[in-house]
Amino acid sequence: MKLIFLGPPGAGKGTLAAKAVDILKLPHISTGAIFRSAIAAQSTLGLKVKAVIDAGKLVDDAATIELVKERLAQADAQAGYILDGFPRTIPQAEALSAFSSVDKVVNFDIPDSSVLERLGGRRVCRKCGANYHIVFNKPKNEKVCPACGGEIYTRDDDREEAVQKRLEVYRAQTAPLIDYYRKKGLLVDVDARPLVDEVVGNFKKALGL
Ligand code: AMP
Repeated sequence: MKLIFLGPPGAGKGTLAAKAVDILKLPHISTGAIFRSAIAAQSTLGLKVKAVIDAGKLVDDAATIELVKERLAQADAQAGYILDGFPRTIPQAEALSAFSSVDKVVNFDIPDSSVLERLGGRRVCRKCGANYHIVFNKPKNEKVCPACGGEIYTRDDDREEAVQKRLEVYRAQTAPLIDYYRKKGLLVDVDARPLVDEVVGNFKKALGL
């Protein structure tokens, strides 16, 4: 199954994707995570995108599309994938349709107030990318990832100014994809407001699993 996870930052796409990997046995491909690894490795790509990402803006379409095209060509993505954070613009969606045919687009539906609450408390493992929250999903030791022992940190783009910018960018450039995919008959809505286990249930129901 080829799935896209669509929704504002902080909707819980990454957290749900980690659960969906176990349920569906598909690779989780997150463009944000790929960019963050590139930044950590100080690769050419990482150095190019760091300032844009820290400011809450989008990386340019051409570079992002190329990255996803190469990733989806790899062996593990042939039976299906969970694409999280891509496409984020109509041109990205158009480009994707030329090299892969998506089965379903899962729209994580959540109001801005919940998004702000979630992003304010979000913490991420620098090593494995697991997501935590200082209230809703608190690791025993706030600095150490219980899954891999990596360092838990706050993303630079989870600072308040960047969060506002990301929400603005989401509304202007990404939210139009909801109608775009609804018109194609591919969209399924999932109520993303409850705690994660309930969202998993909503997700399974929406996909008929
Ligand atoms: P995420 O982890 O999905 O919240 O992505 C973090 C940041 O990476 C975003 O705020 C963007 O700056 C960048 N990014 C991730 N995916 C894309 C994309 N499809 N197009 C452009 N920029 C992206």
